[in-house]
Amino acid sequence: MCTESSSSQLWRASNLHTHTWRCHHAQGDVDEYCRQAHEKGLRLLGISDHTPLPDGRWASIRMAMSELDGYDRAVEAARRHHPSLRILKGMECEFVPEFSSFFRETLLGERKFDYLVGGIHLFRKDAEWHHSSNGVKTPQFLRAYTDFFISAMASGLFTFMAHPDLFAWSWPSWDVETQSCVRAICDAARDLNMPLEINANGLRQWPVHNGGKARQPYPWLPFWEVAADCRVQCLVSADAHHPEEIHDRAVQQAFAMAESLLDQPSAFSWLESLCQA
Ligand SMILES: [Zn+2]
Ligand SMILES: [Zn+2]
Repeated sequence: MCTESSSSQLWRASNLHTHTWRCHHAQGDVDEYCRQAHEKGLRLLGISDHTPLPDGRWASIRMAMSELDGYDRAVEAARRHHPSLRILKGMECEFVPEFSSFFRETLLGERKFDYLVGGIHLFRKDAEWHHSSNGVKTPQFLRAYTDFFISAMASGLFTFMAHPDLFAWSWPSWDVETQSCVRAICDAARDLNMPLEINANGLRQWPVHNGGKARQPYPWLPFWEVAADCRVQCLVSADAHHPEEIHDRAVQQAFAMAESLLDQPSAFSWLESLCQA
């Protein structure tokens, strides 16, 4: 359990973004991630695989509906095997507004999920879906991403939002338009009390050369400078797709970035609420 912790320690002993083999692009099952978490001294571990959707869309990189029962059982078994770790059952969800009742009534209601993560890998513009990581290259698309991201936050479905700076993978450079959109995301996150995630997975990717200089696709430093200025609540996540990624070098780098920018008590104290059984 999460006793004896102060929030300043808890935020470094938590990971709420963890996948399993069920999404077809990660390895390992819940128990293996828990063992790694335990070895690395974590106290709070959230399992958050990519959700299935009722119409089966994007199935090649998502869990199947038929695997939901096994996922439930894997989390239950891990809770019995690792009593010293607080284990939360979550799911990372695309924001598909027409499936809000599946998220709310089936996952959070019937199946008693502890939390849902808003993972906006895709956003809708003019009735078409576009990838956030490689589809944001013009101001019109950045504005559409921003509006969609804010509507996902406002839906009330999610406990936090994953990698809000995922668009930086293909976005060329910081400019007035970027400042305005990032400010809008961060102002809305603060007003909605919605934590934003500094996601270590972008540090495991090849660098991009947008704007003339090589940088990691995300986390994107200027985004987080605005988030810090807006005093947004935050968390650092492994986005682990392999058990060893629970607390690897990328996670350490993400922690260092968070520590250098954020006022830790105000940014991370919200995590304490997740430790109450
Ligand atoms: Zn994934
Ligand atoms: Zn993820």
